[in-house]
Amino acid sequence: MSTLTPLVGLSPEELGAALEGIGVAPKQASMRVRQLWNWVYVHGAKDFAGMSNLARDFRESAAAHFSLMRPEIVTEQISEDGTRKWLLRTAPGIEFETVYIPEEDRGTLCVSSQVGCTLTCRFCHTGTQKLVRNLTPFEIVGQIMVARDALNDWPSTAENRRITNVVMMGMGEPLYNFDNVKAALAIVADGDGLALSRRRITLSTAGVVPMIERAGAEIGSMLAISLHAARDEVRDVIVPINKKYPIRELMAACRSYPGLSNARRITFEYVMLKGVNDSNADAKALVKLIAGIPAKINLIPFNPWPGSPYECSDWDRIEEFADIVNRAGYASPVRTPRGRDIMAACGQLKSESVKERASARMAALRSEELSRMPH
Ligand code: SAH
Repeated sequence: MSTLTPLVGLSPEELGAALEGIGVAPKQASMRVRQLWNWVYVHGAKDFAGMSNLARDFRESAAAHFSLMRPEIVTEQISEDGTRKWLLRTAPGIEFETVYIPEEDRGTLCVSSQVGCTLTCRFCHTGTQKLVRNLTPFEIVGQIMVARDALNDWPSTAENRRITNVVMMGMGEPLYNFDNVKAALAIVADGDGLALSRRRITLSTAGVVPMIERAGAEIGSMLAISLHAARDEVRDVIVPINKKYPIRELMAACRSYPGLSNARRITFEYVMLKGVNDSNADAKALVKLIAGIPAKINLIPFNPWPGSPYECSDWDRIEEFADIVNRAGYASPVRTPRGRDIMAACGQLKSESVKERASARMAALRSEELSRMPH
């Protein structure tokens, strides 16, 4: 394992402190931070040698202490519809997925926040993978760096960028990893950095009610709520966090989401499960529930996975449901399933990583180091 400190994911303050730590004079540090920041996040630099406007001494000492590495790509899969999925790895047993979804008018990167998940939503494949751990800012921002490298999507100042939107809708619950997600999204939204406007960043939560207001105030992205049912009896079963934070409390948090307006609506995600939540009565309950909230309803055809206990609603059913929501005045687009053939669609992500005892992890690390040593 390299002992160099990765720069990707550090805040400007952390980067400044790291530079002072290698002897950069405090007076010079903020200028150096700006220069490095520009190379890393505007140009996607992968080495220090090419940073032509920096003194050679500085480049050399930076290279001796820091790295511009990204998470390692374990596999890349490309769907017949152009969706791409990367399985990334940052340490033995720490593997997570990222998905790029190209569309006519935009390109969306779906980013993971945790390895595994604690929520156990009944229809979600990730929910069958126990939480291994939270991803760090390096690992979250690193997903975007990897995708932009692979898509040749530098510099950040280019007119036609391939990644125009980021959604925190990959593996994990972002509001259970608040600090790291906040730190990572600050870099994504930084105008001198990856430079995606906060309106093009969406954080999706299954409903960690006490964190929703903070998310609005401190992260300021768009909000999506994985609602999936308008009645507690149903939601308790399919989204078990509902037993802790029932629908009424969730709706109250939505109504007071900072910055909510017609121009900044909440997206309610609603997975269409045959015979479970897809009746006309369910649709009517849904519009009643969200009455008065500037919102759009994203209907997601259920994406199956091996052993999944549900079926997707029939197309006619989805259309009738969408009509009811639509007639009540809410946009109700049906999300086209993308990347199903490579298990990259909503709710299909999962990695083989399992939580190991620390001792087993150390042993794996040591044997990996040994195997890298010259024989
Ligand atoms: N934990 C967060 C982030 C994950 S977002 C959240 O729950 O919002 C992933 C989205 O895909 C969520 O809306 C989730 O409910 C939905 N989803 C999960 N499994 C699915 C499946 N099999 N088919 C369609 N959508 C699914």
